Amino acid sequence: MKKPFGVVVASKNPDKIVEVEAVLAGLDPPVAVLGGHVWDDIDETEDTLAGNALLKARAVVAATGHAAIADDTGLEVDALNGGPGVQTARYAGEDATYEDNVTMLLDALDGVSTRTARFRTAVALVTPEGEEVVAEGVLEGVITTQRRGTGGFGYDPIFEVDGRTLAEILPSEKNAMSHRAKALQALARLITP
Ligand code: IMP
Repeated sequence: MKKPFGVVVASKNPDKIVEVEAVLAGLDPPVAVLGGHVWDDIDETEDTLAGNALLKARAVVAATGHAAIADDTGLEVDALNGGPGVQTARYAGEDATYEDNVTMLLDALDGVSTRTARFRTAVALVTPEGEEVVAEGVLEGVITTQRRGTGGFGYDPIFEVDGRTLAEILPSEKNAMSHRAKALQALARLITP
């Protein structure tokens, strides 16, 4: 696929949009983000991360007429047989907050010594011409026993890499190594400038 002139970031999550925009701006060549577009809420009904990323990107292309990038992220905890995975956003229920989900996971791992986990992100780029590219990024880490740090979002305060949680590091540090950044960089490698 040839690099589109600009893309709409198919997310309404401001935490995520900030990260995606920062990574896209740092690509070589940078990918311009088109703002000011609106669309109806999109239900994540697929049972894979890639399926949900594609579903969201396609819906935003249909609503805006522009190329769109969407991501879907799952947290895979080894002690939970890879869960919550595709259910990560809804782990503590349909309207769960970040706080609810983190509490639920800490409770589920109470007394558990094997705490290895990974974030997996699928990103999809879809153009108005119907071209589709999907890529994936993974970040390995461990789930802490309590929250640490005030940065980031979601499960960041309990996801530790090299001794620090993702909420204890700078946004620039997270964007240099995160699952989402790796997925976007892999996507960029599939596109011709
Ligand atoms: P989704 O990709 O918006 O469906 O996100 C799935 C879930 O993972 C949500 O609960 C997010 O808060 C969480 N999540 C996604 N990306 C991150 C991240 O970079 N750090 C921590 N939590 C994340």
